[in-house]
Amino acid sequence: PINLSFQDLSYTVSNGKVSKFILRSINGEFRSGQLTAILGPSGAGKSTLLNVLAGYRVLGASGVISTNGNPRDVNLFRKLSRYIMQDDLLQPLITVQEAMLMAADLKLGDNLDRAKKTVVVEEIIQLLRLNKARNTVTENLSGGERKRLAIALELVNNPPVIFLDEPTTGLDDVASSTCVSLLKRVARGGRTVICSVHTPSARLFSVFDQVYVVADGRCAYQGTSAGVVPFL
Ligand code: ADP
Ligand code: ADP
Repeated sequence: PINLSFQDLSYTVSNGKVSKFILRSINGEFRSGQLTAILGPSGAGKSTLLNVLAGYRVLGASGVISTNGNPRDVNLFRKLSRYIMQDDLLQPLITVQEAMLMAADLKLGDNLDRAKKTVVVEEIIQLLRLNKARNTVTENLSGGERKRLAIALELVNNPPVIFLDEPTTGLDDVASSTCVSLLKRVARGGRTVICSVHTPSARLFSVFDQVYVVADGRCAYQGTSAGVVPFL
């Protein structure tokens, strides 16, 4: 399990003459077992924050990032975490189950035999409620199922930390709630899950254990979802 914490995190971009703050002195902590939302309008700095924490933007970043109380080793952390982008690139002509088994072959290699890979895949299919869709080719999945498959594929090697860039974008209210509730299940399994969301409905953000509101590169609110409304 990994607890990720950060102090005085800033991110600046510069063209040589002028530099500009994209993130300004943000503090926080994401704990194992918890689902955290990074909320805020488009352009607020949400994906920059996820990228800096995940270790994909190093130049221009400052502040202290720790895992379990120790300074984070970027290279190690990139191996321990998964970053799920907004546009998943699923192979079009294979079924959910085939895609999962292929991911298991790729990611678990020869370390596990076929029977054990099937067990791993089966657990994830159940966890993300993809049972009904298991024989559907990816092209024919609903938006919500596609997102859940993209998440499922990243769970194969059991990452302790998962970042998601706006996993609910393009989904209706029902599919968004399902997705977020399932992410909470994923977190409860002993993972640290952080996702960015813009303009969530009230019903949606009550699911999150912890909420950060980013506005113009600053943290405008950090706390439970109960207190967040005035800050959105
Ligand atoms: P969000 O995910 O909340 O929509 P982003 O993190 O993508 O926001 O972007 C925050 C702001 O930082 C935006 O105004 C964006 O244009 C700017 N930005 C991000 N990266 C760079 C960069 N490398 N150079 C210049 N501006 C950037
Ligand atoms: P692997 O070979 O282990 O699958 P990849 O290099 O394909 O590794 O990707 C590792 C992870 O890093 C993936 O979760 C991917 O989405 C993420 N990733 C790669 N490049 C970036 C980036 N520039 N910004 C954010 N996430 C990234």
